[in-house]
Amino acid sequence: MSSSAETPALPDPATLAGLDHWRSLPIKQQPSWPDAEAVAAASAELATLPPLVFAGEVDQLRDRLAAAADGKAFLLQGGDCAETFADATAERIRNRVKTILQMAVVLTYGASLPVIKVGRMAGQFAKPRSNDFETRGDVTLPAYRGDIINGYDFTPGSREANPQRLVKGYHTAASTLNLIRAFTQGGFADLRQVHSWNRGFAENPANSRYEGMAREIDRAIRFMEACGANFDEIKAVEFYASHEALLMDYERPLTRIDSRTGTPYDVSGHLVWIGERTRDIDGAHVDFLSRVRNPIGVKLGPATQPEDVFRLIDKLDPEREPGRLTFITRMGAGKIRDVLPGLLEAVKAEGSKPLWVTDPMHGNGITTPTGYKTRRFDDVVDEVKGFFESHRAVGTHPGGIHVELTGDDVTECLGGSEMIDEDTLATRYESLCDPRLNHMQSLELAFLVAEELTKN
Ligand code: PEP
Ligand code: MN
Repeated sequence: MSSSAETPALPDPATLAGLDHWRSLPIKQQPSWPDAEAVAAASAELATLPPLVFAGEVDQLRDRLAAAADGKAFLLQGGDCAETFADATAERIRNRVKTILQMAVVLTYGASLPVIKVGRMAGQFAKPRSNDFETRGDVTLPAYRGDIINGYDFTPGSREANPQRLVKGYHTAASTLNLIRAFTQGGFADLRQVHSWNRGFAENPANSRYEGMAREIDRAIRFMEACGANFDEIKAVEFYASHEALLMDYERPLTRIDSRTGTPYDVSGHLVWIGERTRDIDGAHVDFLSRVRNPIGVKLGPATQPEDVFRLIDKLDPEREPGRLTFITRMGAGKIRDVLPGLLEAVKAEGSKPLWVTDPMHGNGITTPTGYKTRRFDDVVDEVKGFFESHRAVGTHPGGIHVELTGDDVTECLGGSEMIDEDTLATRYESLCDPRLNHMQSLELAFLVAEELTKN
């Protein structure tokens, strides 16, 4: 081995200093920690802990996303709106992974495209909020900002931001990722298990349709095996972790210099994204994420102008590197057909090729008269259709889907073929934040996306 391979590459001083430039910029959506010293101590502890993901994996994901931007793969990104520490159990994690694997099979088989599987998992603990405070009756307390910051219980003690939670967030992410790696590499995700991923879920029409497809896949595998083919590709899957890079006291200490290249990686997850509320071009989040090598997502809401998109491209992807930048549009079913084509046209004319992904959840929130935050499955489906229609009209690639889902049988979104109605919402509404598609709604959506993909 040459000595240069053994000597860690060092970052230049400007790169290191740049990682803290965000501290001098306007920043949104950070908690007010009551004890600055305790936060500094927690961040210092995080800085000593091992990386959760490795630079080589992050680079591999960037290559995969480049293929998706080129129409040769499709991104499936999904998981909770807000992961909680209490739900980081083997059963809950397994159900989410199973659901994503099932959706991926439906998409791969239905559309004959490689599917890049990315969980909103192992770090999706911090939430942006519209209001800093929540009032119930005559009591007003700080809003719940996610388990990595404060507790959901409506008491002063629980709602106070607690820096101990930063460290607990790291360890919960580590154990979640450990289980994901075991499931996806250790035989559970072997395509020959395609039936077993469906076991344990309640009987329903989407399940039966899935079973039909699984039988066809089984036959195809048996045929290939009988022919003597034995491919490793079906024994394990690549599964990546992603979350919104919101909480700087977590992301900054988990950003490390890669010894191979001397460049910074945010090792809290493979892909990190910037939310709709924190994507100000001159703000802290955009500056910080412009300096790490990870693939970066940016949410784009219905008020986005082409100029905003150009400035984000220039700042986050000055080299126009394939796979670097993903735009996750969340326009709302009623707006996507008016807004998205113009953005796609403008970016196409400029010559950039970001990956375009639809988030059909965040533009379609409603609140029922009884106070439940929900979404209509029909609106979700309509936004997905509007996404595909817009790309077809402009001649760009619809590169992926980003959804809030869970593997459990919750009743949080209205509709689907189980026809969850407003009265049913109360039976199993578990989300502490936004409503998620349940297992069956997720599968139904995957079938629909597969159909849309084959129209292209
Ligand atoms: C989210 O993804 O949970 C979220 C808050 O999204 P957005 O930034 O698009 O509102
Ligand atoms: Mn959400």
